[in-house]
Amino acid sequence: MLNNLGNRFQDIFKKIKGNGKLSEKNIKDALKEVRLSLLEADVNYKVVKEFINKIKEKSVGEDVLKGINPGQQFVKIVNDELIELLGGTNARLTKALRPPTVIMLAGLQGAGKTTFAAKLAKFLKKKNEKPYLIGADVYRPAAMKQLQVLGESIDTPVFTIEGSKDAVEICTKGLAKAKEENATYAIFDTAGRLHIDENLMEELKNIRKIIKPQEILLVVDAMTGQDAVNVAKKFNETLNIDGVVLTKLDGDARGGAALSIKAVVGKPIKFIGVGEKLDDIELFHPDRLVSRILGMGDVVSLVEKAQETINEDEARELEEKIKKQTFDLEDFLKQLNQIKKLGPITKLLQMIPGANQLGDLAPAEKEMKKIEAVIQSMTKEERKNPKLMNAGRKKRVAKGSGTNVQVVNNLLKQFEQMKKMMKMFGGGGLPGMKGGFPG
Ligand code: GDP
Repeated sequence: MLNNLGNRFQDIFKKIKGNGKLSEKNIKDALKEVRLSLLEADVNYKVVKEFINKIKEKSVGEDVLKGINPGQQFVKIVNDELIELLGGTNARLTKALRPPTVIMLAGLQGAGKTTFAAKLAKFLKKKNEKPYLIGADVYRPAAMKQLQVLGESIDTPVFTIEGSKDAVEICTKGLAKAKEENATYAIFDTAGRLHIDENLMEELKNIRKIIKPQEILLVVDAMTGQDAVNVAKKFNETLNIDGVVLTKLDGDARGGAALSIKAVVGKPIKFIGVGEKLDDIELFHPDRLVSRILGMGDVVSLVEKAQETINEDEARELEEKIKKQTFDLEDFLKQLNQIKKLGPITKLLQMIPGANQLGDLAPAEKEMKKIEAVIQSMTKEERKNPKLMNAGRKKRVAKGSGTNVQVVNNLLKQFEQMKKMMKMFGGGGLPGMKGGFPG
């Protein structure tokens, strides 16, 4: 799937010319073509519009790194934004503290729910889990039998009450049985309909109340394109789903659904189905899919290397400046930008275990923005020589940065203190550290 998109993109990237900077002019045609290809791949038009704007924002004015060409740099930007569009890092399946983890599958008839229930059970078995299947599709006549046959083939117990039309009863008893059997995962296959209707939603809400799932996964058929996206949106509005399973991506689906779901529905794709066999299931990895679409993994790593080199160069330069005590506010601004490139502080700190105990981090984020605005409102001369900042200049900078004189004063004071610290470190290290660490 999405092969066409990949071929189109490769042609587009080849045509980007010029050097030094990515400009409105040298990426204009590329942007136009990326836009067209995404629309042709059936990506939601609103998503395309936002995507193009982001790419433009990130590209225009960007200096092209040493050792690579503008086309390559553009590929990297498109690569990163596509990953972001698909939800960034891959979403994992929840695991309940006290087993069984309850997973409720929902979706329209024919989406591939029953098949996925068995695929997921097999997937979990391979990870040494003990899945238990509950067939509560009381609507499609053959569904329960189908699940039983599939369960048998993978040696996984299945609970159903054949002939029953009471899905809630099946689920209640099924969950009790799963606990009795010490299952680590209880997977519920629910009924679908050909279209979304009130009865279906009521039934699903009732089931949810009884089984209290840790994960509600919506199974949608990628072959239905934008319909799949709309279905996901509606189900999410009623059921507040946790993730999406996109099936039949092995077919000739144009794949636009995959690229639109996260942006439109706000929920990540967690698994994809890539065939009718029970092994045809994959955890969804946005970076891998993007790499497959663009087919440009080598270019992406080339740019990443170039970025690392730049950082090394900058770090060396910075070290020199600290040593020579010529570090100024201009350098400080550069440092802030480096930090910003890593992502929002709040997000960065979330990755550190225990960082949530630091409390609300949003103020730090705001503080950084203020500092940045203040420095940006200063002239080059002032950044190099903060001593120039008299009352008049401070007032001007405060106004320009939308802050006040106190904020400007604080920044200047903090910067002076920082310089003093640097003097200590730069001038041969801390006293007593010359001989290296003791011991
Ligand atoms: P349900 O009504 O949602 O339970 O749908 P089923 O699980 O019965 O699936 C409907 C049809 O889609 C069956 O013929 C499945 O074999 C097929 N199917 C399910 N998942 C996939 C997939 O990932 N790829 C392909 N090619 N077919 C699939």
